[in-house]
Amino acid sequence: MPELPEVETVRRGLLPVMEGAVITLAEVNRPDLRWPLPDRMADRLTGRRVMALRRRSKYILADLDSGETLLVHLGMSGRMLISGTMLGQFHHDHPAPQKHDHVVLHMDGGARVTFNDARRFGAMDLVATDRAALHPLLAGLGPEPFGNDFNGPYLAARLAGRRTPIKAALLDQRVVAGLGNIYVAETLYRARISPLRLAGDLVDTLAQGLVPVIRAVLTEAIEAGGSSLRDFRQANGELGYFSKHFQVYDREGDPCERPGCTGTILRSVQSGRSSFWCPACQR
Ligand SMILES: [Zn+2]
Repeated sequence: MPELPEVETVRRGLLPVMEGAVITLAEVNRPDLRWPLPDRMADRLTGRRVMALRRRSKYILADLDSGETLLVHLGMSGRMLISGTMLGQFHHDHPAPQKHDHVVLHMDGGARVTFNDARRFGAMDLVATDRAALHPLLAGLGPEPFGNDFNGPYLAARLAGRRTPIKAALLDQRVVAGLGNIYVAETLYRARISPLRLAGDLVDTLAQGLVPVIRAVLTEAIEAGGSSLRDFRQANGELGYFSKHFQVYDREGDPCERPGCTGTILRSVQSGRSSFWCPACQR
């Protein structure tokens, strides 16, 4: 499932073909994804210029010159493909239509953006731009991890007194937007904090210190995504999925990489989801 760095990589890949360009034709090939698509979606997109392409948490927001914003969520299996233009060093010709190409945007620069989603857990909606922040999918979200509102005193206050594991607290999208299972695991490893520890038990300095660690982990992943765009290896023009080295995520049984630590990475199940961590150096 794409997390914030993957979504940001998709946004950066779409920027040169979408921002400032006009959607000359929108094809909407079915009435719903996870939820029904908005009424007259194709008509409301066709002929509109994309004024800005933003990201909020794991959502991509395309502000249109009609005063509406197209909200896109990739869901579990949603993929964005670009064809008809250069992507990194490669040009991808328009592919033959595929079975799960649900929405296709033809841009006036000649590029085509295809949203393909076999499992249809993705979502798209159209909302008035000036009320986009109130959309049900966005309204409850906490601050962006790179925003000024997300800082040491804020995080320490949100964790104080919580009797839930720190892992669950960081996955709570009301605390910080966009963190998922992978990058929470990497953050807690780097901070030497056990995912099982109760959030409210972290002393203030440890809680505040998580902010720069979260930013560093996400920044490195976004940079890896950026390299994947420049040096595009995937033959089909697909955006957003890139290989990245993880220190603990999905490494059960591997020796801990921390210099001097002789621990072995464990997998624990918390709230039905896997946690990967080193019991020797994460306390
Ligand atoms: Zn270790």
